[in-house]
Amino acid sequence: MADKHTETFEIAIIGLGPVGATLANLLGQMGVSTVVLELSDEISPLPRAVAFDDEVMRIFQSFGLSDAMEKVAEVGEGAKFVDTDNKTLVYWERPMVRSSNGWFVNYRFNQPELEKILRDSLARLPSVSIKLGSEVVDLKQIGEEVEIVFVQGEREQKLRAAYVVGCDGGRSFVRQKMSVKFEDLGFHEEWLIIDLLLPERDVDPDRFTYHYCGFPRTGSKVFVGSKRKRWELRMNEADDRKTIQSPDVIWDILKPWIKPPEAEIERTALYTFHSTIAEKWRTGRVFLAGDAAHQTPPFMAQGMCAGIRDASNLAWKLEQVLRQGAPDQLLDTYESERSPHVREYINMTIEFGNLINNTAKSVTSGNPTNIGGGQQTVAQLRPKLGLGISAGDTSKRGRLLPQFLLENGRLLDDVTGYRCALLLAQGSADKFDFSLLSDFSDVGVQVIDAPGHGAQYWLEDADAVAVLVGADRNVIGTARAVQDIAQLHPSNWLFR
Ligand SMILES: Cc1cc2nc3c(=O)[nH]c(=O)nc-3n(C[C@H](O)[C@H](O)[C@H](O)COP(=O)(O)OP(=O)(O)OC[C@H]3O[C@@H](n4cnc5c(N)ncnc54)[C@H](O)[C@@H]3O)c2cc1C
Repeated sequence: MADKHTETFEIAIIGLGPVGATLANLLGQMGVSTVVLELSDEISPLPRAVAFDDEVMRIFQSFGLSDAMEKVAEVGEGAKFVDTDNKTLVYWERPMVRSSNGWFVNYRFNQPELEKILRDSLARLPSVSIKLGSEVVDLKQIGEEVEIVFVQGEREQKLRAAYVVGCDGGRSFVRQKMSVKFEDLGFHEEWLIIDLLLPERDVDPDRFTYHYCGFPRTGSKVFVGSKRKRWELRMNEADDRKTIQSPDVIWDILKPWIKPPEAEIERTALYTFHSTIAEKWRTGRVFLAGDAAHQTPPFMAQGMCAGIRDASNLAWKLEQVLRQGAPDQLLDTYESERSPHVREYINMTIEFGNLINNTAKSVTSGNPTNIGGGQQTVAQLRPKLGLGISAGDTSKRGRLLPQFLLENGRLLDDVTGYRCALLLAQGSADKFDFSLLSDFSDVGVQVIDAPGHGAQYWLEDADAVAVLVGADRNVIGTARAVQDIAQLHPSNWLFR
């Protein structure tokens, strides 16, 4: 029995990086009582993520932060992988138009600024408590709860939660405590990261990301908004690890591109990039998310993005089990859906790494098109979720539903927020029993029965009169006829 003074929450999140903070925002928005324990008092100032994608902006939209994110992010252009003759081996296209998700495919930003927005937003959520300067040192499953031991200041304290999510980064204590090993996908390299601050707004019209493949110093150059430039460079055998971050060595390395009066060094770091996936993402009431569950080199800018997708996949399922009477099996679909999805990104990232390292001249992922002369174009990867929740007709299952403009002129996700949604084709709501609609809304599914032209066209193309999506906007299933709509109800979901 827990001491009656032990604080108890529905969810405890360990780690307040971008993934823990996103998860806390999503849970808090649903009113789920959540505590976040974070080792550090401050946001990490390290040079880490600089780009996120349209799907992640859509997730930020689902909890009301897309406006704030747009203020600190700049739309990014495509990426070119060039060889020493300046020939583009692979061009990763990112059209400067909005995708079916309603956002641009690439945004450039500074990770500490993004994390600040995520943290500030938690202050408006009364069900979320944050304990900074709190290192979790033990976890114990006791009946229907997990006891968490943490040290704040000098004092060891305890609290309890029905579920725990370890968002505690690549060296995850939670993963170690769960005795979960990483599957090694084979790419491990030491890289030097340099962020430069520009004295004036950068007006260079060429804003592509460049990956320099097979150069004596291989690496990448990225624009990070108009004030900052990033170089990510692979360490060579002969490099002296002790002196490489000193300003004179840095400027010597950057000589081919930029010189001191043009910028100042903001920060540097040495990292070893890894490519790994946890062999298990759940043990009983404890889950892993973000870097704690998977790690990838940054060549596709997908590490944080994948973690934010984890949060979006897991939060609503936890709420369904805690509040809507959904079966525990629903929580197993978190790993089965997310793990194969993130694996596709890591595999393509490794292909990009091989290109940069000159051990490959082309890629096979990203739907490549050979355009002649040993050159390829590749598109944004859009993997399907792994096996998991399904209902009704599953031909569209596991894919993101586009963000349609609804009949009332509003965007789909602005109307639904972070909730499951049932979209009914024009006229189909008139043909069935209205009590069915309340069966859906009673378990937190938003019903939309005038979805507008885009959705109508999508439904016709899918030969469907209704589509059900999870709160993460992935399709769970469709109904071909009005009498099949009941099959989409959560009580009829299959988990496999
Ligand atoms: C050079 C570089 C470039 C990158 N570029 C991109 C990019 O462009 N796009 C992209 O999507 N990703 C990128 N990434 C990856 C991205 O930075 C990470 O995937 C992301 O920060 C992971 O977020 P997280 O919340 O899972 O973990 P973290 O950000 O590592 O946060 C984990 C938190 O847990 C806390 N913690 C740890 N142990 C405990 C404990 N025992 N108790 C309490 N708290 C604890 C830590 O203090 C930390 O705050 C890049 C990474 C690097 C290194």
